[in-house]
Amino acid sequence: MLTDTPREPKTGARSGAERWRRELAGAVREPAELIRRLGLPEALREPAERAARLYPLRVPGPFIARMRPGDPEDPLLRQVLPVAAETAAVAGYGADPLAEQAQRTGSGVLEKYHGRSLVLAAGGCPVHCRYCFRRTFPAGDEGGWRSALAHLEAAGAPAEVILSGGDPLLLDDAAIAECLQRLGRLDGIRRVRIHTRMPVAIPARVTEALVRHLARAPLQAVAVVHANHPHEVDAEVTAALGRLRGACSAVLNQAVLLRGVNDDAATLAALSERLFEAEALPYYLHLLDPVSGAAHFDVDADTGLRLWTELAHRLPGYLLPRLVREAPGAAAKQVLTPSGP
Ligand SMILES: *Cc1c(COP(=O)(O)O)cnc(C)c1O
Ligand code: SF4
Repeated sequence: MLTDTPREPKTGARSGAERWRRELAGAVREPAELIRRLGLPEALREPAERAARLYPLRVPGPFIARMRPGDPEDPLLRQVLPVAAETAAVAGYGADPLAEQAQRTGSGVLEKYHGRSLVLAAGGCPVHCRYCFRRTFPAGDEGGWRSALAHLEAAGAPAEVILSGGDPLLLDDAAIAECLQRLGRLDGIRRVRIHTRMPVAIPARVTEALVRHLARAPLQAVAVVHANHPHEVDAEVTAALGRLRGACSAVLNQAVLLRGVNDDAATLAALSERLFEAEALPYYLHLLDPVSGAAHFDVDADTGLRLWTELAHRLPGYLLPRLVREAPGAAAKQVLTPSGP
């Protein structure tokens, strides 16, 4: 394999940890740099810089390496490059589409659905997805998981605790280990679920130490990763998901249905196939949350259902994600199914 990154000494977890930290710290934050690296038209720069003032650009090297140089339409680039459309106000798109701010307990726990508490474990993400429903939220506090655990320890735990964020795998391995041990001691808990884009954004984050902590955790672990397009799952990501699979009871994927990225049945089918090769199963295909700045990604529910139906005709049931939408105040995510026979 050709690589332009320095070779790592093969000394296991230690060098792995250093590599993911370097890749995280080295994430591209300047539109001009992304444009230069990919040989993109200079005209993209000014609107990108303007949109990045509302929500900064952030994309790590391993993710950029999977983009096609010189292609402004690249489906991975589209997910991260700020564009002029983000700065337009669109009716129906707001700052907090899921009314989540009101549901946050002071301790960083979202208790929205029965039996599952979602912990805002870490502030920030390794990559800034332009369609993110949290793009307008103030960055969380990095130590949020400690107050969240204190809350669960005092108030009682549900069957499943979901570590989300931001991205919980921004925490270091020692913090993850402590978190898993403390969760395992809670009465009534059965599982921990980790919602993370890290194995896709920076696959080196799946270190030997992380895998060991997950495998030895005193409760079952489920990883839910996030890839939207088959090009996101390259050989390195496949290897990282394989390592995770060795330590977790399941590795699942959630994707967002995005116009210009994955809004055709062939791409969605290829994504499911790639995920399965990487030992991950498709879980959810989300309709876009109406967050301001993301309207240009919207695929309406009827189109979503038509694509999903086409997908259902192509794939075995276990490779078919559920098409869902989040409705503020609802007791569960709303699963969309075609009406009629
Ligand atoms: C999506 C979500 C969950 C998990 O829902 P599942 O349908 O179990 O995947 C839990 N809490 C919150 C706040 C969520 O948004
Ligand atoms: S990784 Fe998830 S939470 Fe983070 S910016 Fe992307 S969509 Fe949002």
